[in-house]
Amino acid sequence: MKRKDVCILGLGILFFSITVLSCSRDQLTYENNQPGLSDPKVPLHKKKNNSYVNEDITYSILNVVNDELYMDASCESTDFSQVLSGYLTEILNDPFFDFNLLDYYLELNRKYVTFYRGDNYYGENGEFNHLAKKRIRELTKFWSLDREIYLNGQHTAFLDDREILTDMIESFDRSVRNRMEAYEKADSLLAINAQSSVFPENPYFAFDAFTKPSGLLVIGDGILQSLTETGIDGDIAFSTMLAHEWWHQAQFEYDEEWDFIDQLANPSERTRFSELEADFAASYFLSHKRGATYNWKRIEEYFSLSFNVGDCFVQSNDHHGTPKQRLAAAKFGYKLAASAQKKGFILSPTEVHEAFLKVYELLIL
Ligand SMILES: [Zn+2]
Repeated sequence: MKRKDVCILGLGILFFSITVLSCSRDQLTYENNQPGLSDPKVPLHKKKNNSYVNEDITYSILNVVNDELYMDASCESTDFSQVLSGYLTEILNDPFFDFNLLDYYLELNRKYVTFYRGDNYYGENGEFNHLAKKRIRELTKFWSLDREIYLNGQHTAFLDDREILTDMIESFDRSVRNRMEAYEKADSLLAINAQSSVFPENPYFAFDAFTKPSGLLVIGDGILQSLTETGIDGDIAFSTMLAHEWWHQAQFEYDEEWDFIDQLANPSERTRFSELEADFAASYFLSHKRGATYNWKRIEEYFSLSFNVGDCFVQSNDHHGTPKQRLAAAKFGYKLAASAQKKGFILSPTEVHEAFLKVYELLIL
């Protein structure tokens, strides 16, 4: 099966947070009172013959608000989901709150990091630059994948920078015909930004963590911030996300050979399998003596992170595994590294995949 999916580490939780806040939903009425923003969603969602628009990477926050039917009532809430609920509350309470603007910014920033190639920095002030270089070097050696993998950082500051915002609008907003019009629209948005305390500073506007078959990995500042606010060390949060997304590249590479996923009944089960395997493999890399060499204390923090980012949308196509399942996947990855590294070797991606198959249905689900 050809995998076209974009895997977003925190998306399940994003759904969850919105559902948590759904009690506020009835109070929301949208009024488009921004003259420069006439239905900005429409041009972004048009699917014409151009390579910029890919429905697979778009989602509308307006749609996911209706996803609460997917919720498994027995699944627990986590500290992480509470932090995210706080961000959403802040957005919803802002005097400049506007669903279309929210959607517009999320789309622009996601598309920008999807198509951008060039200089990069990681973390709001580049605080993860050194770590990124180190981990990329380690992961490249550890898995030996035959593909070019590159990491784009996503920043809320992109949406507050006149040139970058204009680039985004010119490239992705089909209602704009030329750069002059893009500048005009950017300036009207910057005027809103200047008055609002959440547009675009709120971490939600740089909340992506995903990967694509092209070799692209994206890690947003916002998701890093949310994890550190949950009490997780920033280096662990960054390394974990990078290792998790890196494993999706292995899944892309071995797509033809690893056929277990083809037997799964529906997209929801396939996503859950891919995500839990990525947690398992990330844990293997992080704890391996020839990987990130995390000691037990740091691995425990990884377990905590894995638990926190689980979601409860068990029927959703974007379900990444419940907190308990994600925690279990991480623990088995650690055990695998502990058993294998006594012999001092690194298992190949296919061996790790096979090791995961042995525990997946019996012990993780
Ligand atoms: Zn993933």
